[in-house]
Amino acid sequence: MPMMSRTLNSITVLWRTARNGLSCHRMVPGGCRLQQTHLVQARIRALAPVIAVLMLAWIPIDAASLSRAEFWHILPLRLALAASLLLLVRGAVRLSANMATTLFVWLQALAFVGMELCLHPAQGDLLRVGYGLFPFMVGAQLAIFPLPWGCSLRIGSAALAVLFVPALAGVRPPDIALRDALWLLGVILLLAAWAGHTQLRLLTDLLAARDDASHDPLTGLANRRSAELRLAADRAHALRLNEPLSLLMLDLDHFKQINDHWGHAAGDRVLKATAQALRDELRGADLPSRFGGEEFLTILPGTDAARALDVAERIRERIAKLTIAVPGDTIQITASIGVATITEGESAQKLVARADVALYRAKDNGRDRCAFAALDTIEPAPP
Ligand code: GH3
Ligand code: MG
Ligand code: MG
Repeated sequence: MPMMSRTLNSITVLWRTARNGLSCHRMVPGGCRLQQTHLVQARIRALAPVIAVLMLAWIPIDAASLSRAEFWHILPLRLALAASLLLLVRGAVRLSANMATTLFVWLQALAFVGMELCLHPAQGDLLRVGYGLFPFMVGAQLAIFPLPWGCSLRIGSAALAVLFVPALAGVRPPDIALRDALWLLGVILLLAAWAGHTQLRLLTDLLAARDDASHDPLTGLANRRSAELRLAADRAHALRLNEPLSLLMLDLDHFKQINDHWGHAAGDRVLKATAQALRDELRGADLPSRFGGEEFLTILPGTDAARALDVAERIRERIAKLTIAVPGDTIQITASIGVATITEGESAQKLVARADVALYRAKDNGRDRCAFAALDTIEPAPP
């Protein structure tokens, strides 16, 4: 009995591994799927028109090498393939990476099977100019798509079918040349699947590295660098469209005492709770970021001074209500917030500096409060 259940377990594990390997979704992390799809679509948009043109450019060669009957049978297939590839260029944006690649490969494979079936079996190799290379061309194309290896192999089986079908249909005898071709195609497919998988891994690693470089590891919020980049873009947008743009500069009150009294780990928990409070209170278009140690800069696009003050007050109240559990105790915190709204032609640095000055005014006035930045005069920042 235990032997039987071990065998069943092994079969289940093998089945899951094979299913995951062949799946086009399971091996692509959720955060990477959109970029993978965009990349696949961009490659189809670049390659499909080239193949469509090649299909049409080959027509004079067919005319010169094939019999009239073969030529007229194959011509509509060439035209249909070129047209459907061009349609795919327009439609690819609505398809998943898997579906777009499958259509791209299978359209070519099916058209080729059709063409092969139109060629007379007695037609010598010399007269079948280019047709013998078609399956290899289809198989090799898979190397440019960032797909899991199992997914590439599954789609690439179309290219194998291209070689098998004419042989099975008796159009071409399964001779040594066919076995050689199948072997070579198998190797090309494996290499293409490997190349596609490597591209996908590179893409995943690149996105993870980009994410690491733009986020604060403790709170998961945007870091100072990405907040500054976003502020530059939002500022340009706001000044161009004459839209409001506001900033909140938030600093926790007496945070040093929390570290000193409860320890650094408790301080970290407070920072995480503050980040979560910011996330909960803000809209999707707003960007909260960890600007420094316990300073958080929030960008509020399209938000005027009155609305920004409302948001700041809401956040301040929310933070004052937080209770953060630490071993044997609970911590309560408060925050001070400086609010600034962009003025005509103001630089991003000056806007941040004004929010910072307002923050120090809130501190000077007793903490746990919000202060709005003076309009054009920059008060000297406190030491
Ligand atoms: P104030 O009300 O004037 O803002 O007083 P404060 O104590 O909050 O201000 P101060 O700037 O003197 O203290 C900031 C402290 O934040 C000092 C530093 O040890 C702490 N800090 C900075 N980064 C981290 C961090 O990542 N984790 C923890 N636990 N503490 C940090
Ligand atoms: Mg502080
Ligand atoms: Mg500080």
